[in-house]
Amino acid sequence: AKSAGGNRFELADPEADARAITRHGLTTALPTALDRGEFFIEYQPLVHLGDGTVHGAEALVRWLHPQHGVLGPDRFIPLAERTGLIVPLGRWVLEEAVRQACSWQERHDRTGPLRINVNLSPCQLTHPGLVSDTVAILEQAGLEPDALCLEVTESALIGADDGLLKPLRRLAEMGVDIALDDFGTGYSNLANLRRLPVRVLKLDRSFTQSMQQYPADPVDLKIVEGIVSLAHSLDLAVTVEGVETGAQAEQLRILGCDTAQGWYYARPGPPERLHELALLDATG
Ligand code: C2E
Ligand code: CA
Ligand code: CA
Ligand code: CA
Repeated sequence: AKSAGGNRFELADPEADARAITRHGLTTALPTALDRGEFFIEYQPLVHLGDGTVHGAEALVRWLHPQHGVLGPDRFIPLAERTGLIVPLGRWVLEEAVRQACSWQERHDRTGPLRINVNLSPCQLTHPGLVSDTVAILEQAGLEPDALCLEVTESALIGADDGLLKPLRRLAEMGVDIALDDFGTGYSNLANLRRLPVRVLKLDRSFTQSMQQYPADPVDLKIVEGIVSLAHSLDLAVTVEGVETGAQAEQLRILGCDTAQGWYYARPGPPERLHELALLDATG
């Protein structure tokens, strides 16, 4: 419970105290963690709902902290955003993931490239180096821009003005896909979608969760059906995240979703795992 008292330093809640100490420790360790090479990336496959083949993967960053072990992004991304480290960290993730995607391309004889999805924080959107950094990273690695998809949360783009959209438009013109992440949680004006340089809607996990019961809630089904048909009429692809069961996958496939991601297919893992999954596609 929150302390109603005026003394912020009372030790009434030892758990909160421990969290505060950890948070303080993380804040002091974070700025040098990048130089110390403590971050690593796990990749989670995105599959085509139609035939189950691998479409690409999302890069998800982790921190191997010397004392606390592996920390998920929810533990340190907010801190990195507050301290500004998110810009160099985000650039590192992009560089690493693009390099990884290139090595997948070289090892697979596929009709289309394995695509790589990278998350962008709102701070990176407003950073003036976004376009030039991305261009440089793609060129240096030799990856085609259309193999890259940048995920931006719906909430980061609500009410976005032209200044914020301009770098995204530039990237989209080059062929980089922009995905609207956590879609359906931000109450954005659907008509507004036309204004955004977005190619993909990534339906939030909450929709997938509501498909868990059988039969699923008919209202939820209608909502997803409506989003999918609107998206397709605007030429947008629909990805669903958080698919944990075959029943969910089947339901979402029937509703017309294009690609899916979730534990049902694979948990996030080392790059070798994605290589093996894609290889399975190739050999049948
Ligand atoms: P997100 O972009 O929505 O990523 C999906 C999250 O759902 C990931 O959590 C993933 O591990 C988890 N997930 C995947 N499949 C399932 C499933 O079937 N069931 C359930 N319950 N969860 C599933 P993770 O890796 O902890 O990442 C959390 C968030 O941290 C991400 O949410 C993203 O917003 C952020 N993040 C991760 N990497 C980066 C990064 O490099 N840069 C930035 N700015 N944010 C990142
Ligand atoms: Ca994402
Ligand atoms: Ca998401
Ligand atoms: Ca999410």
